[in-house]
Amino acid sequence: MDINRSFVNGRKVVCPNCGAEMYLDDIDYNFRGCQDEYWVCEKCCSTVIVKIRYGKECKRDFLKGYM
Ligand SMILES: [Zn+2]
Repeated sequence: MDINRSFVNGRKVVCPNCGAEMYLDDIDYNFRGCQDEYWVCEKCCSTVIVKIRYGKECKRDFLKGYM
């Protein structure tokens, strides 16, 4: 599954592994417009880290859960 297609209406992330909706667990702020968002799937414990630089999403890392 293309990880970038898991975005729904800008602020929702669907788990690329099991399809469940993920919740925003934590945000690391570096400075304004520059942050890392940690999205977690309750179902399978996968994590998606959305890296935002200068107000734009620039990278998305997927850590697969146990299912
Ligand atoms: Zn999942």
